[in-house]
Amino acid sequence: MSIIVQKFGGTSVATANKIRQAAKKAIAAKAAGNQVVVVVSARGKKTDELVALAAEMTDNPSPREMDVLLSTGEQETIALLSMAIHSLGEQAVSLTGPQIGIMTDAASTKARIQKIITTRLHELLDAGNIVIAAGFQGHDSEGNITTLGRGGSDTTATALAAVLNASMCEIYTDVEGVFTTDPRIVPEARKIPQISYDEMLELASLGAGVMHSRSIEFAKKYQVPLRVRPAYSEGEGTLITQEPEDSTQVVTGIAIVKDELRVGLGGIPDRPGVMSMIFAKMAARKIPLDLVVQDIAEGGTAEISFTVPRQDFAEALTAATEAVDELGQGSVTHGTELSKVSIVGNGMQYHTGVAAKMFKTIAQNNTNVLMISTGDIKISVLIRSDQALSTVQKIHESFHLHEQKAISPEIGFPQQDQKTTSQKINTEREHEVVLGLSNMEDIVVSDVIVDSSQARVTIRNLPDEPGIAATIFEAVAEGGIMVDMIVQNVSREGVTNISFTLPEGDLEQSLLLIRTIVEPWEGVTVSYDDHIAKIAVAGIGLRSHTGVGKKMFAALASKEINILMVGTSEMRMTTVIDRSQAETARAVLSETFL
Ligand code: ADP
Ligand code: ASP
Ligand code: MG
Repeated sequence: MSIIVQKFGGTSVATANKIRQAAKKAIAAKAAGNQVVVVVSARGKKTDELVALAAEMTDNPSPREMDVLLSTGEQETIALLSMAIHSLGEQAVSLTGPQIGIMTDAASTKARIQKIITTRLHELLDAGNIVIAAGFQGHDSEGNITTLGRGGSDTTATALAAVLNASMCEIYTDVEGVFTTDPRIVPEARKIPQISYDEMLELASLGAGVMHSRSIEFAKKYQVPLRVRPAYSEGEGTLITQEPEDSTQVVTGIAIVKDELRVGLGGIPDRPGVMSMIFAKMAARKIPLDLVVQDIAEGGTAEISFTVPRQDFAEALTAATEAVDELGQGSVTHGTELSKVSIVGNGMQYHTGVAAKMFKTIAQNNTNVLMISTGDIKISVLIRSDQALSTVQKIHESFHLHEQKAISPEIGFPQQDQKTTSQKINTEREHEVVLGLSNMEDIVVSDVIVDSSQARVTIRNLPDEPGIAATIFEAVAEGGIMVDMIVQNVSREGVTNISFTLPEGDLEQSLLLIRTIVEPWEGVTVSYDDHIAKIAVAGIGLRSHTGVGKKMFAALASKEINILMVGTSEMRMTTVIDRSQAETARAVLSETFL
């Protein structure tokens, strides 16, 4: 008999009526001949209320007690839903996280699932029950209740769907499905009928709050078909799958994190091991870093910036100060009231001009781009928070995201040939690695990819004002050149630097184009390096796991390999190094990860 997992979010179980509606959906799925597991969240704003209650007791609640407290929200809902199902004449049993058999590590408030013992679940299902499972919680090896991080019920649902080999995992929520961007920000946002795991993973980890990004990791690893659907109607929702039927969009969606904080380390030594040391310090505190940007060093010193979530900011500053003290050189800077806006789309790896168009739109909104970082299927920029919402609206408009299948004329044709086959991710290999994991949420790194076909261009001393990045990348796009990694760090003393990589064969033309553009700008210099290699580890959920960067940089440092550029995505952690060291890098990374 096939198994269906349904998950109802907080709003969808907020009132007695809504709980009854959820009960009816579960009963209908059972009546259709399935075994049914329902995962629920805490009702309405319950979790927020519990967090506020804790804050009334202390500024610094013990993480263990926080988990004991927060897990009660979901416990309330399971009992109520179970009663609702009983009253409709069906059998149901409610289970808390520990009762379901969800084993996690001991990282209170951000625990990761290790394994799920399904014996009891199967017994209850086989006996004809609808099983109601509390989302967001499990227990560690000592029996302590743990929670998975805010929004974690999605992860409970997909993890259960994975271990039960469910035919579908349905995420019922308060919108029609996954939209091109948050419909609360852009009312014209369009529901996406189907989306790939990779795009959804990027969108979720870059801020699209509709799904917990770790739940998409589960779905991709264990190939769980996932559907995000409205709880209040019979809408079809959005299917999240390996290969969506309609994948012609260049940009699929836009994500925003409104409240980003930046930590910078400036004037630090440019030598192997520095990145490794900084990442190790952050990983030790389980601080996920995003928008990691390193300037191409000048005069023997480097500048590194990254953004961190608000709750980790104080710790990240302490760790950065420690790093600078140990290095005996440099200073720590920070920035607040920043937002990160990202565009995500599978098609952007094959089309030219996507970055140029994004930057141009931002410039037209009179908004300055403070930092840029790219991955294979995403481009992220850091901008001022007060300009973020209007920027998202403008980008949505300029990419015509409210219409289906619109490729705008400024965007160039597919450039499939420019992507070397060695860069394609080996999904079979990925699957083998997943099957061999000892813990379900362990890092999956399935490949080490070396690309020695690219060159790097750096433009220094650019005026720090709206429109600069747009002008440069428009010129390059007009030459039909496919830009790959782009990196821009925050400005110092009113000037900024931009670096990017491109196919080596296009270097000469690109230098000509850029030199023409920058000529009138005083003090701007252009340099290049045609002896670089891009080396990446590929896998699933790499940015969300704090340990990947740490391991990668430590391995490269052990071979005295200096890191010139860094790019992160959920699928890849990429560094640019000197080409002469590419094979050494490949060997040490393969040894470390594979
Ligand atoms: P639940 O309580 O059901 O888990 P959430 O509040 O976590 O619901 O997620 C649903 C909300 O996510 C929507 O109300 C919407 O405002 C927001 N959201 C953000 N980005 C998107 C997006 N790209 N598509 C749909 N909803 C989004
Ligand atoms: N109740 C938890 C939260 O609000 C988990 C969830 O709803 O997914 O974060
Ligand atoms: Mg949610």
